[in-house]
Amino acid sequence: MKKDFYELLGVSKSATASEIKKAYRKLAVKYHPDKNPDDDSAEEKFKEIGSAYEILSDEDKRAAYDRYGHAAFEGGMGGGGGMGGVDPMDIFSQVFGGAFGGGGGGFDDLFGGGGRRGGRPRVQRGSDLRYDLDITLEEAAKGTEKELEIEKFANCNKCSGSGSKSGGGRKTCSTCGGQGAVTKQAGIFIQQTTCPSCEGAGTTIADPCDKCSGSGREQKLDRIKVRIPAGVNDGTRLRSTGNGDSGPMGGPNGDLYVFLTILPHNVFEREGNDLQCEVPTPFSVCTLGGEIDVPTLDGKASIKIPAGTQGGTIFRLRDRGVPSLQSGKKGDLLVETRVEVPTKLNAEQKSKLTEFAESIGDENAPLSGSFLEKAKKFFGK
Ligand SMILES: [Zn+2]
Ligand SMILES: [Zn+2]
Repeated sequence: MKKDFYELLGVSKSATASEIKKAYRKLAVKYHPDKNPDDDSAEEKFKEIGSAYEILSDEDKRAAYDRYGHAAFEGGMGGGGGMGGVDPMDIFSQVFGGAFGGGGGGFDDLFGGGGRRGGRPRVQRGSDLRYDLDITLEEAAKGTEKELEIEKFANCNKCSGSGSKSGGGRKTCSTCGGQGAVTKQAGIFIQQTTCPSCEGAGTTIADPCDKCSGSGREQKLDRIKVRIPAGVNDGTRLRSTGNGDSGPMGGPNGDLYVFLTILPHNVFEREGNDLQCEVPTPFSVCTLGGEIDVPTLDGKASIKIPAGTQGGTIFRLRDRGVPSLQSGKKGDLLVETRVEVPTKLNAEQKSKLTEFAESIGDENAPLSGSFLEKAKKFFGK
């Protein structure tokens, strides 16, 4: 004869959903197999309350149960022969998963020690950390290695992260009695929060390490080398696996995220994987043609300026830009000429230039010729 679900959870037939949930939580913590090793009756009870909660927490199933009793779930339902298919552990994690907030560990965090089901870790993972790093454009283009100084939680070197002086085991937490959570009265509400003494583990170290007080970790200044690949961008985020905080009581490390900012460069501007720069070009070179030196990330290069080059002409130097982070293929360097107008002419230079201007006349003016044409149309003349 199956037991009544309401009786199993110790609630009345008119209990609200939250009353049912609360009752289930209390019992589930009490009868959890991890807390009652070698006690088959506790495990049996844990399964029973899991089944009861599975039905009573679902509005439709509860209504069916209220009408037909256990018969509602005999045969057919759920495919697997009534309640046979219910995994009480799954229900358990559903209820507790969100309740204890935080770190992805869900309810497994409540019970310290080894993985009971499928070797899932039960320990808390350390936090991920963020480090903001400024690098130069050259470093972004060529890649580099940086040593970062980071304040973080690392394994206590006295107890090697175990938290225990002697390497001894754990005992039930005296603050929460092993429940992992404590309740407190807040006005008319009873609030349940993670136990501050065991941080939800339900157990504490029997003989805590005197250096880290049993937490297994301590705040340290750590030096971490990170490799920055060529081609990173402003805003690129790099992950350094396992270099975040170490987990409490020997839990796995979090990761370190390095957020990159690329400092402005005094010669080049970056546009995607291309670089751009302006190069002052003497008036005489623009006119007669010649060679000028241009800066690149690999030092000087020279480009040929054809005779009659105007200011604002762009010359493209292939593969002198920044490599793509994905493919390694380099962008180009775009060099824009800026005609340099001499400002300190002596009398002789001035007179020569005047002579030159008179000799060249109006017709030899490739830009202003077409400009005047356009202007005439604009004025309607
Ligand atoms: Zn220690
Ligand atoms: Zn506790």
